[in-house]
Amino acid sequence: MSSLQNVPCPFCGLGCDDLMLHARGAAFTVVSGACPRSLAGFARAFDKPDARVRGQPASTASALAEAVTVLGGARQPIFTGLATDVAGVRSVLALARQCDGMLDHLHGAGGLQGVLALQSSGGMTTTLAEVRNRADLVILVGSSGEDVAPRFRERVLSHPRHEHAGTSPRRVFVLGPQGLPADADSDPAVEWRHLACTAADLPYAVGALRCLVDGRSLDPRAGENLPMDGLGALAARIPEASYGAIVWGGELIPGGHGDLLLEAIQTLLQDLNAESRWGGLAIGGGEGGATMEEACTWNTGYAGRIRFRSGEAIYEPRLLDAARMLERGEADCMVWVGGLEGDHSPPAPDVPSIVLAPPDVPLGREPEVYLPVGIPGIDHSGTGVRCDHVVSLPLRQLRKDGPPPASQMLDRINEGLGGRGVSAC
Ligand code: SF4
Repeated sequence: MSSLQNVPCPFCGLGCDDLMLHARGAAFTVVSGACPRSLAGFARAFDKPDARVRGQPASTASALAEAVTVLGGARQPIFTGLATDVAGVRSVLALARQCDGMLDHLHGAGGLQGVLALQSSGGMTTTLAEVRNRADLVILVGSSGEDVAPRFRERVLSHPRHEHAGTSPRRVFVLGPQGLPADADSDPAVEWRHLACTAADLPYAVGALRCLVDGRSLDPRAGENLPMDGLGALAARIPEASYGAIVWGGELIPGGHGDLLLEAIQTLLQDLNAESRWGGLAIGGGEGGATMEEACTWNTGYAGRIRFRSGEAIYEPRLLDAARMLERGEADCMVWVGGLEGDHSPPAPDVPSIVLAPPDVPLGREPEVYLPVGIPGIDHSGTGVRCDHVVSLPLRQLRKDGPPPASQMLDRINEGLGGRGVSAC
């Protein structure tokens, strides 16, 4: 049995690069550095499947030709999923530019929250390494950390700080409906405290904390549903902290108002930085979300949710919601670009669709064109971006003879439409 050391993991935004794998035929067992997502992800193996056109096996060439016909006939195609590596994002941008397409990542709503908050109130950010090495007080908002990135506690919160940053247990306040880890009471590295409130009350809780930190009085009615005792205890700890971090993850408030919560968090961070060092960190970015945001920004100036018109990128963050647009018939073709979609499946829209996904991804409806693509970091090498947006993770090819990268298929469709594929440049 062959072993692979220090393998980077592509399956969430934490970007762990310390995994040890054992090969079992075409699949892999994670024997060190495992979490539920990596165990499931590296265990995936499939035969080399055929492409399909309307459910019938087809050669790759004829499926690509049909994809060119379908996409060439669309006026408002939307590219979604976008769970791919940097090369895949570059290729999908080139193709969308060629056919006046629209783009929205499968976690577009969550990513949008952070971008909108940054636009309106600015942002003070930190990195995973800074939180791990320096933060003696961490406020987790709307997430336990592990629900978004399973090894966040092990790799960051429970990891010893740099010696000069102190050796006392790290204080972690978890604000929101999610509970504490089952063994929180016996964790020697972290002093946990849960401040329970609903997701809808999170903005009010952050606002109340800001009042307490500023020493302003709060109307008692405003705190009726809030954990005021716990918020008071947290406010008392804040002046003692030498380095603090506020961490959040995922789509904080379903329904599209998470940007208001993030604005409240960023405003609080600005206040706290007047006296001490504080930073904010989003630990989302899974399913290639951070990769999409970064590569899209390098290439267009926008982090996502754009449409192309005559080669120009137009930023429409609230309008370009792929799920809503497909439901309302505001797009006339869907292109799903996957590889890292994990448990997420392509929608089954009433419009023609082209799906690029690994063979084991369940499809709700047989698309007009199905093209098998590989998993970045297993079937082919590539680059992913970590959730703190400061590290690009080189992904390795671990097995041969799997399906091709999404970027290769996208480039060939682009060439069929008269454009120029990125990888051919
Ligand atoms: S926490 Fe994320 S990056 Fe780390 S091993 Fe698990 S899925 Fe992979």
